[in-house]
Amino acid sequence: MSYLAKNYNRKKIGFKYGKGCYLYSVNNKKYLDFVQGIAVNSLGHAHPRLVKTLRDQSKKLWHVSNAFQIPEGEKLARKLCKKTFADYVMFQNSGAEATEAAIKAARRYFYSIGKPKKNRILCIKNSFHGRTLAAIFASGSKKMTEGFGPKVEGFDHFSFGDHDSLKKKINKNTAAIMVETIMGEGGIKVIPDWCLKDLRTLCNKKNILLILDEVQCGIGRSGDFFAFETSKVKPDIVPIAKGIGGGFPIGAVLMNKKVASGMIPGTHGSTFGGNPLAMSVGNTVLDIIANKKFLNNVKSVSKYFLFKLNKIKEKYPNLIKQIRGKGLLIGIQLYKDQTKFINKLMDNQLLTIRAAENVVRILPPLNVKRKEIDIALQVIDKVCSQLK
Ligand SMILES: *Cc1c(COP(=O)(O)O)cnc(C)c1O
Repeated sequence: MSYLAKNYNRKKIGFKYGKGCYLYSVNNKKYLDFVQGIAVNSLGHAHPRLVKTLRDQSKKLWHVSNAFQIPEGEKLARKLCKKTFADYVMFQNSGAEATEAAIKAARRYFYSIGKPKKNRILCIKNSFHGRTLAAIFASGSKKMTEGFGPKVEGFDHFSFGDHDSLKKKINKNTAAIMVETIMGEGGIKVIPDWCLKDLRTLCNKKNILLILDEVQCGIGRSGDFFAFETSKVKPDIVPIAKGIGGGFPIGAVLMNKKVASGMIPGTHGSTFGGNPLAMSVGNTVLDIIANKKFLNNVKSVSKYFLFKLNKIKEKYPNLIKQIRGKGLLIGIQLYKDQTKFINKLMDNQLLTIRAAENVVRILPPLNVKRKEIDIALQVIDKVCSQLK
């Protein structure tokens, strides 16, 4: 029997090791891994530069308290700020911690300017911001919050794409609007650039902070360093996590100067967040991904993949409803439940993962090659032909 709690419905498969795009199972089968720990292993498994960084740093220094200077963290924060809208960074260990710290920063800002009642956060219904108590109530999802009351107060919700309800839900106590630039768990739904622009204008008019949750879609996943970049919009706060550690748990909140002014000494902390081991790996991941040539390659591979997937959709119009996504955050939306489809892909040694709305989510590493995409396309086509 398993002594692990049963909060996961796990597939009956385990792995010995991974290399690049591939995972090798305990019963010696080779799988094309297009889950990559849910957009976490942004450079695939056992990337030589990440292995070297981890090995070198592990001999020097793993952990010191944030009570002291951490040069590796200073370096990563500086790079993130030079590269983006941000002026300051707070390091955490996970996505939920990052979104919670984002909420704390938004509230603390209004508190610090004498508006403590301006503390409500407006979110999209059935979004995903993590599994901690505040984060599940931020999601407004019945399934995630059921049985976990009392309700964490302070969140309001509107439906994806419903601009009237968004405007109606804003009041004088709204401190921030927090949305995923691309909803990941929610079914790979992209907020269009013009919407992001309108959101920014609305926030400016009503003195509301804009939080764009890029935990899943950030760090090159969309083909740009951040998914919101194509809109030219500047958010106030951006939580990140998944891809920045390349498999090492790292979370962070990026903030502009205005928001950061509220986070004075003693307002927030993390024992593990930003330790030398994590920061060293983060620096190497960033050096590889935050590079125009690297990101252009993500874009071109994505264009090819999406084009070919749309061809497959045309071939099986009764099975596939829509191809969704941007960059290498891709969803195949089926007309019916996707479980069987995902299991068949797995039988054919291709790993994918579900998302809401009958979506098969596909998350290759960002350095995936065309030849690996071609293998995946072949398997997808084969499974479509079996299930059509
Ligand atoms: C995964 C995810 C989170 C939560 O991250 P954890 O590391 O699981 O806490 C938050 N927001 C978004 C958009 C995510 O995809």
